[in-house]
Amino acid sequence: MKKIFSSLFTILCIAIIFLVCPHSAHAHTPITIKTTTAETDIFNETLQEKIISLSKATPLIVLSEKDDWTKVQYKTTTGYIKSEILKSASPQYMLVNAKNEPLVRVTNTQQSDIIGKLYINSIVEVYGSASTDFVFVKYGNTAGFVNKHALVQPTAKAMTVKSSADLVVRSAASPSSGEIGVLRKNANVTMLTNLKGWAFVATDELSGYVLASGLKSPDKKAEAPKPPKPKSGKKIALTFDDGPHPKVTMQILKTLEKYDAKATFFVIGQEAKKYPEILKTVYEAGHEIGNHTFNHTKLTTLSLKQMKGQIQSTDAVINAAIGQNATVFRPPYGAYNKTIVNQLNVPIVMWTIDTLDWKHRDPEKTVLAVNEQAKNGSIILMHDIHQTTADALDTILSALQKQGYEFVTASELLEVQKR
Ligand code: ZN
Repeated sequence: MKKIFSSLFTILCIAIIFLVCPHSAHAHTPITIKTTTAETDIFNETLQEKIISLSKATPLIVLSEKDDWTKVQYKTTTGYIKSEILKSASPQYMLVNAKNEPLVRVTNTQQSDIIGKLYINSIVEVYGSASTDFVFVKYGNTAGFVNKHALVQPTAKAMTVKSSADLVVRSAASPSSGEIGVLRKNANVTMLTNLKGWAFVATDELSGYVLASGLKSPDKKAEAPKPPKPKSGKKIALTFDDGPHPKVTMQILKTLEKYDAKATFFVIGQEAKKYPEILKTVYEAGHEIGNHTFNHTKLTTLSLKQMKGQIQSTDAVINAAIGQNATVFRPPYGAYNKTIVNQLNVPIVMWTIDTLDWKHRDPEKTVLAVNEQAKNGSIILMHDIHQTTADALDTILSALQKQGYEFVTASELLEVQKR
């Protein structure tokens, strides 16, 4: 918060709102791709009128499936197709290896709108064959067309899941991306890439990203087990609002890394637009990215159109930088209502501890606010735009770690509280 002009909203509460939104891809629902088994047509809502004809083996995004008809998206067209003409597609895995980051587009032309960006060394799922220079790919929640020259065949490496724990498989290299399944201890997998601590693995049943630290080479005999961290089970979510900031955010990242802490950054669209590289660095370090509107406006004062614009434009900037939308939302000044909630398909995350770091700009007071109020399940509100906050963080994390706290993202904390 830059300013809180009313104490009304400094409520110490946490609102978790999960919305069921059947017609938009939920941030935690991986996209499903199917391909056509024959030449066919896409029909409009009435199921009478043909919108477009498709050739055999065309990959489509499945929006919803209902009895005989499946709602699909093909390029910019949305419509209905007979379910019997669709089959689950098995993708080819390709490694992103372009000099310039390859852009994901809505259609297979260079002029088409950009909907995302792929990471170098990530693995994408490729469906169908290349028409022109473009192939249809899926990565996490993004699916679209990419220049085929950006992709190369990956090198496969046999690996084994460490015996210490099962591994969660995710749709993208991020702790907040959707869960696809679980790999059991000692399972054998094929690793196709290792991207900043995230490995893409495939087995006969499933494929996706896992934490690379959970894998070992099968030929290595039992590694000396690390002494297990004392586990108290106490978790805290650190949240940083109003960034990214070129200096302060980077200092905070360093301190978080020192304590092996994961946090959530609620970014402002106009700042993220100025510093996409900082945002990407935050994301790639394993932190969660939240939407905090485009220019920190009090949403409850806006028209529906303006409010939507604040949310969507920020997601667009985030997606352009990290290849996926924000997975959580925090309204500026904590101000929201039902209309705003209805526009979101991610949870709203408030806070339980307000450090007031923006107001006093005093590291000691920030430390004190946390020390006095921290408990299991706390969500701490701080701002990564004030040097004084970055300066307080080391002391805060050192004290909390001694008390046995683990620092997790907002989504992970919500996940724990749901169980
Ligand atoms: Zn704010």
